[in-house]
Parts: sequence; C-alpha cells; structure tokens
Amino acid sequence: MSKKSSIILEASKEGRKHLLETEAKTVCMKYGIPVTEFELAKDRVEAVEFAEKIGYPVVLKIVSSDVIHKSDVNGVILNIKDAGEVQKAYDQIIDSVKKHKPDAKIVGILVQEMAPTSTEVIVGATKDPQFGPTLMFGLGGIFVEILKDVTFRIAPITEDEAREMITEVKAYPLLKGYRNRPPADIETIIKILLNTSRLVMEHQEIKELDLNPIMVYEKGAKTVDARIILE
Ligand code: ADP
Ligand code: MG
Repeated sequence: MSKKSSIILEASKEGRKHLLETEAKTVCMKYGIPVTEFELAKDRVEAVEFAEKIGYPVVLKIVSSDVIHKSDVNGVILNIKDAGEVQKAYDQIIDSVKKHKPDAKIVGILVQEMAPTSTEVIVGATKDPQFGPTLMFGLGGIFVEILKDVTFRIAPITEDEAREMITEVKAYPLLKGYRNRPPADIETIIKILLNTSRLVMEHQEIKELDLNPIMVYEKGAKTVDARIILE
C-alpha cells in the first residue's frame, strides 16, 4: 500500500490545495481509517436515493472547493429523517451557499450517515519545517479548543508511541469510561493514529490533516469530518 493516492496527485496537478471532504475521506478509507458512509449527490433525486440506501438519519453537506468551513455558510444539516426532509435540506444548503458565496463552484451535495453522538477525539497532522510530519491527538470540543489538552509526536510513530499519545492527555480517564459514559475503543484509536502516520509519511505533500471529530464507540469509530491541505 505504498502507492501514492491518485486523488492527492490529481489535486496537486490541478493546483488545488484543499481536498474536498469526499476526497479526504476516500484517502482515509484507503489507509484503513474508518469514516462515515457517504455518497455524492448531483441533484435532489440522487440525494433521496442515496439517503434511502444509507439509511436514516442522514447528514447533508455542501461539497465545494470554494467552501472550506462548511458550517460557516450553513452548509451542513444534521439528523435528516425522511425523503421530504432530504429534499428540503438539499435546497436549503444550495440557497444558503449561493447567498454566502455567490461565486462558489458547487460540486454536489454529500449525503452521509449520521454518526451517533459519542466520545469525540481529534487526530491531526502538520508538517514541521524541521522535523517533518508531526501527529497530534486530543479529545474533541472544549478539551482541544479551550484546555489545549493535546499531545504531539513526530511521525512515523510506533504502536507504543500511539498508545502513549492517548494515555498522556489529561482527559484520558474519560476514554476509559466515566459514570454513564461507556469505555471507548482505544485499540481502534491506536490503529487510526498508526494509519494516519503512514498516510502522512507516504504523502509528504500533505501540509495539514485534520480528522475532527472522530466519534469513538465501545467498538469501532467513525471520522465525521476530514480535512487535508496540501503544500
Ligand atoms: P465544517 O466544515 O463546518 O467543519 P463538519 O463536516 O465538521 O463541517 O460538520 C460540522 C459538525 O456537524 C461536526 O463537527 C459534527 O459535530 C457534526 N457532524 C458532521 N457530520 C456528521 C455526521 N456524519 N454525523 C454526526 N455528526 C456530524
Ligand atoms: Mg469540521
């Protein structure tokens, strides 16, 4: 699996620095990083078709190389429960993106399974000018944003280092289960860290990678949003 991702090669060739969520998630899948099931709809009929195939509830999102933060343009609608709501959400997203960014080139609307809420973690990678690809781990939301409770390692990492990254954050006890919160699948997080390490090592053109958030369950995990920025 040391082959370069054709998606990354294509984007570089086209001079695009931000991969679309569909592209970033496809790259992740190739590296064994679990992501929400998704399909890219080109029209409302397709959106309903995909939603029925994936199963409700679903999430609809804007896919546009001109939109990096989808929520900022009201480009994400969660918890859609039937065909009528899919059609409504589809139109709502297109209208809203056109209002916020009239020139945005819309590739389509992403239909994806709604991942049940759970413990959220973040796996990131940046390229340090001196040390090269560097990995980051933390728990999602306030833990990263307010408490800066994160940990870093220079890639590539070993399995022991991946485990250390997880156990050394202050919020680690939450992952082991707390009150009515079940324990999170730590072995799966370790695999995600190792696979992310391999991904960034084999693609030195990745400037930033952001799996944020990853919902972690008692068994397995699902990456809900993936961002990859090229140099
Ligand atoms: P943005 O580009 O604004 O970061 P996201 O794709 O991250 O857009 O969506 C915004 C938020 O919506 C996410 O942080 C997450 O809380 C929630 N979300 C997005 N996709 C899903 C999904 N498939 N299942 C559950 N929650 C989701
Ligand atoms: Mg996001």
